[in-house]
Amino acid sequence: MGTKGREIVGLDIKKLLELLNKAYADEWLAYYQYWLGAKVAKGPMKEAVIAELTQHAADELRHADMVTMRIIQLGGTPVSKPEDWAKYSNCGYDAPNDPDVEKLIEQNIKGEQCAIGVYKSLLDLTVNKDPVTYNIVLQILQDEVEHEEDLQALQEDLEGMLRRSHK
Ligand code: FE
Ligand code: FE
Ligand code: MG
Repeated sequence: MGTKGREIVGLDIKKLLELLNKAYADEWLAYYQYWLGAKVAKGPMKEAVIAELTQHAADELRHADMVTMRIIQLGGTPVSKPEDWAKYSNCGYDAPNDPDVEKLIEQNIKGEQCAIGVYKSLLDLTVNKDPVTYNIVLQILQDEVEHEEDLQALQEDLEGMLRRSHK
């Protein structure tokens, strides 16, 4: 990274890099959880659920890209081994072993809620300290908030449908 670009970061860069690497590991695991969930999904409104999970998988991979570019720019090294993702991750990985759409949505809502917390903390840490990281984190947070909203809307539609069908 350029010397002036580094100089304007009013934070401990080593600590920031650790947090960015944790978020980076989260994004890969979120990507894979959505990607595989979209392949195995079964149940009512399957098509709509698959479309949403597939779109979110693409978003999570884009987030991994955004975070890794900033890690490299700051002079850091992105987590290089997939087997370390779970170790670094904040939000972990919830395997889509049950293909039921309701279960998948529930697991992914939990993941999004964790991600929202992670990016809110990074936003609070970088505000007025590191505008470049702040801007990246803000864009990702906006996506995660939308992801949670989309999944909860799907969950409501599904519940409504199941309620009506049991009458
Ligand atoms: Fe993400
Ligand atoms: Fe997300
Ligand atoms: Mg969506």
